[in-house]
Amino acid sequence: MFTIPDKVSKLLTAIGIFAFGYIYLAYDTHHQKYLSVIEKYNDQLYKANRAVLQTDKDIEDLKDNSSTLALKHDQPDQIIVKNNKIIFNRILKGPSISIQITEKLEPYWKKYSDDNFKAKVENAILEQKLSYLKSEEKALDNYMQNEFTPQLLTALVIFFAGIISWISEENKINPTKQEEKIYGNCQSCGKVFNSMRLNGTNKDKSLNRAFCKFCYNKGKFLEPDLQKEDFLSNVSLTYAHDNRIIRKRKDKFYKNLERWKE
Ligand SMILES: [Zn+2]
Repeated sequence: MFTIPDKVSKLLTAIGIFAFGYIYLAYDTHHQKYLSVIEKYNDQLYKANRAVLQTDKDIEDLKDNSSTLALKHDQPDQIIVKNNKIIFNRILKGPSISIQITEKLEPYWKKYSDDNFKAKVENAILEQKLSYLKSEEKALDNYMQNEFTPQLLTALVIFFAGIISWISEENKINPTKQEEKIYGNCQSCGKVFNSMRLNGTNKDKSLNRAFCKFCYNKGKFLEPDLQKEDFLSNVSLTYAHDNRIIRKRKDKFYKNLERWKE
């Protein structure tokens, strides 16, 4: 089922892991940017709310002072609220008491006007931050849909393709059951074990009972990329002159060696 060579499966696994790292960093960059935009918006929201509260307090002070002075001197109230608009009816000519009330109200009016202007500015900035936040939300959404999710799925596929083929390769190279069997022939090249053709060794330096030292040593095949078809066609040259029945039997023998059988 998995015929990807050992090196390729390790490479795929490594690419998968690197891809996860890269995707995480890219995601983190996008997410941090989004969080900082939210933070700036919240700061501005706080400033704008404060400015509005200050203006409300200014209006209360202004109205309070105006009505107190009007009552005290039996004069008309100079601060009037009309259609939610606050109006200052200044008296610049006429009875001196009215002119004095206007002068007394002037600093309260100035404070209200200044703070009201500030509140308008803070609210205008807030509007800007809100539209920036909305565009950033949309950008993050697009990124998650069009980049992050497909990249993550691709990395998962690469990683699992690598790891599964790696595991299946490992199982092919080190079949645990072959340790229990005693073989007369190398299960890779098919040659008989003897004093010249000794067994190869496993990773832990123990003897490998299936393969000769010319095929397998220190836990690795000497020709790991050798394909079954190439091996069979090469070895068949050595008995090309035998008769058909012997050729068939040898074909079967080589095909059934542990390394090559399916
Ligand atoms: Zn061998």
